[in-house]
Amino acid sequence: MDDTVLFLGAGATKSVKGPMTDEILPRMYAEKSLLAAADPKGLVARLVQFLETEFHVRAGLPKEEYPGLPLLMSLLDMALDRRELFHAEWDVTVLAELRQAIELGIFDVLEEALVKFPTNNHYSLLQRLFPLPCTPQVITTNYDLVVDTSMMHLSRQWRPEGGLPNYRCGIANLAPVGPEQRFGSLLKLHGSLNWLYCRTCQRLELGATDSTRFLSIYGQIIGPDLRSSFTTDGAPCGVCGRQLRPLLVAPSHLKDYRNPHLGQVWYEAQRVLRQSKRAIFVGYSLPDDDVEVIYLLKRGLAHITDPKQITVVEYCAENPLILPQQHPVGRRYRALFGDIDWHAGGLQSWLDSASGLPIAPVH
Ligand SMILES: [Zn+2]
Repeated sequence: MDDTVLFLGAGATKSVKGPMTDEILPRMYAEKSLLAAADPKGLVARLVQFLETEFHVRAGLPKEEYPGLPLLMSLLDMALDRRELFHAEWDVTVLAELRQAIELGIFDVLEEALVKFPTNNHYSLLQRLFPLPCTPQVITTNYDLVVDTSMMHLSRQWRPEGGLPNYRCGIANLAPVGPEQRFGSLLKLHGSLNWLYCRTCQRLELGATDSTRFLSIYGQIIGPDLRSSFTTDGAPCGVCGRQLRPLLVAPSHLKDYRNPHLGQVWYEAQRVLRQSKRAIFVGYSLPDDDVEVIYLLKRGLAHITDPKQITVVEYCAENPLILPQQHPVGRRYRALFGDIDWHAGGLQSWLDSASGLPIAPVH
């Protein structure tokens, strides 16, 4: 339905067995030798040393005992912002490099996992919520390409050669892709693994990655390989020659939304939310420290007076029938929106159940 908006959080990626935020650092640490081999500047080794000396990380440590990735990135951001040091050994230049090493690690871990996992449940979800001729309206907090891939698959039902999602920001090498080749809107609030950004001239480009290369429409768009953009001989900006870097807003408390491209995405997200009559949240836990996103949602959905038009799909392994008032996520949604339509059995179970069918919006 054209007046439905789908909002995806990390739990949606989890439902296709993708890695969650709290699994990224332990995976990076476990795969440090592998990562170091592709890192001529030695950033990975410095990051490992930083985690070991400053955060007591060691081999075999359970993931619960790692510092949270948002906390770690926030501490680095705070030190960079204030130009202060944790310790004489870690000066500001080194801290900036460590932050870059974490971005590299996030990319590697996600990319490696993403090539493998199936996206069937996202495909069913889109097909169910947006039957043709409607096109998907999706907002996501994820960097990965699970929903991108599913949207492109679905676009082949719309026309045989498929279409690219409209990302609603100025991706330079997508400029020749006309509106007739676009299928749905995909608003990636925190950026995307395959968006490459020049910090000098602010040019944004789409980079090809292994997980999306199979689609013929991508084949027409020549982009630099994302992986190589991290290395010293990485892809240069077509305008100024400076090395391109992925545009990812890190899961940090000082999220940088000042980027002009992301500003446009956030503006569009606000517009789509305001025009919606129904919102479906999948795997977004509405954490209290996600103030910017909560502000966007609270304002964007203020016009929806019937809370049952807001559906929240969560996964509670212990008790799929748990009431929203008994679940921390349910309580947070109720506090913001009232007595919402709540499902705690996970995405697949919601799709399988009759109640998973969209309720016709009230006119
Ligand atoms: Zn440039």
